[in-house]
Amino acid sequence: MTTMTLRTRFAPSPTGFLHIGGARTALFCYLHTRRHQGAFVLRIEDTDTERSTQEAVAVILEGLNWLGLPPDEGPFFQSHHTARYLEVVQTLLATGHAYPCVCSRERLDAVREQQRTTGDKPRYDGHCREAHLTVAPGQPHVIRFKTPQEGEILWEDKIQGSIRIANGELDDLILVRSDGSPTYNLAVAVDDHDMGISLVIRGEDHISNTPRQIHVFKAMGWAVPEYGHMPLLHGSDGAKLSKRHGAVSVLQYREEGFLPSAVNNYLARLGWSHGEQEIFTMAELEQLFDVSALGRSAAIFDRAKLLWINGHHIRAATPEQLLPELAFQLARLGIDPAPSSEQLAAILPEFQPRAATLVEMAQKCRFLFIDSVLPYEEKAARKHLTPATRPALAALAAAFQALPAWTTTALEEAFQATLTAFGLTMGQLAQPVRVVLTGSGASPGIFETLGMLGREKSLHRLQEGLAHLDRQEQTTA
Ligand code: GLU
Repeated sequence: MTTMTLRTRFAPSPTGFLHIGGARTALFCYLHTRRHQGAFVLRIEDTDTERSTQEAVAVILEGLNWLGLPPDEGPFFQSHHTARYLEVVQTLLATGHAYPCVCSRERLDAVREQQRTTGDKPRYDGHCREAHLTVAPGQPHVIRFKTPQEGEILWEDKIQGSIRIANGELDDLILVRSDGSPTYNLAVAVDDHDMGISLVIRGEDHISNTPRQIHVFKAMGWAVPEYGHMPLLHGSDGAKLSKRHGAVSVLQYREEGFLPSAVNNYLARLGWSHGEQEIFTMAELEQLFDVSALGRSAAIFDRAKLLWINGHHIRAATPEQLLPELAFQLARLGIDPAPSSEQLAAILPEFQPRAATLVEMAQKCRFLFIDSVLPYEEKAARKHLTPATRPALAALAAAFQALPAWTTTALEEAFQATLTAFGLTMGQLAQPVRVVLTGSGASPGIFETLGMLGREKSLHRLQEGLAHLDRQEQTTA
């Protein structure tokens, strides 16, 4: 017996951005496929032409790309498959699994109203089901699926366990609308078959669609795929995740300074665990993650935990993993042109251990890359950059200027000598120096800062600091 290759798909509708819930579905499909050496297919479900946009497609692709979840095949677009869907409908009509329905909107509304008053479930009453209608060209009609009235659909859901739904619960769903366009359940079933999808992983909000799609498979004599319906993501208040909870575009997490590996790690742990382990590299997840090990309870989105995981990933990241994200953040802070990889790699050890996000890291190291006049934080300047500090600052600038080599030892000696000459403590001189070098009163160690900034920039900033004090003197005099 040959074992079939596992094939999964991620099938977003391009009607909005890729939010964190969608990203989680994509991640689970991707990881499960990696573990089982299968193929991960990306399908853009753009049959709703009114609501689908090119922009949303671009944002979905960008989001997947940023997360590092490249499809093995695709993106395929449902809008390119219309002829194929209609061909399948012709077969369903020919085999008696579908029928044309000419019921008017008014009639359907009246039926529904009637059902409402008698307390029945609103559904199509089967008026055209056995009518064997031949529609005249141009006559408005839809095509409906002839759902068996007896029996049930049963499947072993990979995540939810056995699910059974009685056929009596199902409507004769519309396959083709009156404008000739195929509906969601038809398109999904045809594509899942044509693309050889063996496991459909999607949110549990789709459970009610599954029996309808299985019916199409069966009517066509196709092998039915397996299904795994993931519990949905909820906010900490228990409500379904919404914008308010952080169900924003995944790209916003990029803007907020999260590493893609941290977002993936965090999302994978929502509903899945591997012993006590919390921190996973992507490679580990690709080895370990399996949807059949997912729990059934709703996962709760917790931003504090995401931040905590992000800190871990930042500390453990290689320069290659950090540099694009750090450069992205620096660009947002107006650093242009971007620093070189060598420049960034040289400063990483100083900032990597202490940042919870890349935004924070970029803010802390931004001073290194500013070429124009460095702005000072007002409070820090007022506190540390006073006229009394000018003579020592001027002497230090001169001593640094005279140094034959810009080494930590040489800088320390010159600094120490200035402290002694002016009878100052380390902090009394280091703080003003820090403000003129970095614009703020908090930075890495003063000698590390001087080393990272380099001779030219450091000397220039000391001169700027002195000029600043002179200007201040003039305005107060
Ligand atoms: N296009 C559907 C959605 O975005 C998903 C369909 C599916 O996974 O079967 O919700």
